Amino acid sequence: MKSLHTTNALPSKVTIVEVGPRDGLQNEQQHLDTDKKINFINRLSTCGLPVIECSSMVSSQWIPQLADAEEVINKIDRHPGVRYPVLVPNEKGMQRALAAGATSVAIFIAVSESFNQKNVNCSIDESFTRFEPVMALAKAAGIEVRGYLSCIMGCPYEGKIKPMKVATIARHLIELGCYEVSLGDTIGAGTPLQAQRLVQTISKQVPVEQLAIHFHDTRGQALANIFACLELGITTIDAAVAGLGGCPYAKGSSGNVATEDVVYMLEGMGIETGIDLRALSEAGNMICQQLKRSSHSKVGRLYQ
Ligand code: MG
Repeated sequence: MKSLHTTNALPSKVTIVEVGPRDGLQNEQQHLDTDKKINFINRLSTCGLPVIECSSMVSSQWIPQLADAEEVINKIDRHPGVRYPVLVPNEKGMQRALAAGATSVAIFIAVSESFNQKNVNCSIDESFTRFEPVMALAKAAGIEVRGYLSCIMGCPYEGKIKPMKVATIARHLIELGCYEVSLGDTIGAGTPLQAQRLVQTISKQVPVEQLAIHFHDTRGQALANIFACLELGITTIDAAVAGLGGCPYAKGSSGNVATEDVVYMLEGMGIETGIDLRALSEAGNMICQQLKRSSHSKVGRLYQ
């Protein structure tokens, strides 16, 4: 199907990064047993997803929901052609990830000083210092590293964020050796033209091919923001099946955009994702049942 726009061509293919088992589950109230998490990731592996972020090596004191990261990484069935990144906060986390057999990792930083302090208890500069040994270990092991940037269109503590600030930190992550930077609208504050202006500003410093978008649907803007960024050449989109995760800054609100909804929109526009929407929706509905919550995916609910 051809885009209605004559000036901005849409991509023919998009890579979806499924973040439900990590970003999603870490923000769910209900804890899941380890075998249920493994089963969930194994189900997702059969849906055609190319990337499934499976856990995080942060201290279990901070995020008790993911205290079983090693066991999860170790026991999942790894499908050929699927990548299974793990979040690492520092050198110790990286060592744990390597010992557990991780073959892909991600580091994370906020573009707001206040958020970074509250999230990882150090300044942005200190975060970059912590990343150096992580990158060295990754390089030695031949492992790719993704960089996550949070609060790109607003911070719960500092409010508005300047696009140039986001661009500078994104470039810094690439210079450090990240193959890709995921731009996270952590509080779901952005709107489509703001998202376009931001991507335009960043892409003057980082090639658009190395940018991914990670939008939250807290204010119902995620799909519109994604479409706006597709027009600028973005081809990697983060999403969480069933919209897992919620929003830690607004109780009961939506968080991560639901993968099912993103896939439906993309495929409907003739953009290939390689994902089996029915299988994905069924996996999302299964995990919602286990978490005793309803799905945040409008498309997913049609498959109940
Ligand atoms: Mg998220």
